[in-house]
Amino acid sequence: MSATENQQLKQVLREHELKATTQRIALLKLLDATHEHFDAEEIYLELLKKEKNVSRATVYRSLEALAEQDLVTRLDFGDGRMRFERSKGEDEHHDHLICEKCGKVIEFFNLEMEAQQLSVCEENDFTPSTHTMHIFGTCSDCRTSQ
Ligand SMILES: [Zn+2]
Ligand SMILES: [Zn+2]
Ligand SMILES: [Zn+2]
Repeated sequence: MSATENQQLKQVLREHELKATTQRIALLKLLDATHEHFDAEEIYLELLKKEKNVSRATVYRSLEALAEQDLVTRLDFGDGRMRFERSKGEDEHHDHLICEKCGKVIEFFNLEMEAQQLSVCEENDFTPSTHTMHIFGTCSDCRTSQ
């Protein structure tokens, strides 16, 4: 982890009027570096591997604060665990396929699907801000082991 990365994240936090605490920076770094969709407890445990002085309550509160500022995105995969991922810019947008058997999450991006959504908005004279698309089902591993 480079010093510039730290500086950049500090800057991002300040732009969102959040105090650039060590834990918030560590949290953003963790989410920047992973394609996993962790819940708050998993994030806490991951951070604990790296630093000793991590408090569960602070991690939970930080996640809420970061989500409020749209720096992280809350994902509800319908299993009662709220997950988080780093909010992506438009160029990194993706949607999710979620296996109901093993919980595997596959990220996908389909330009035609995105374009269709925009035309639906246009047809309804509606200005979209954000969307989440989750498709639930069975992954190929789980299907073959049935
Ligand atoms: Zn999408
Ligand atoms: Zn599966
Ligand atoms: Zn994702």
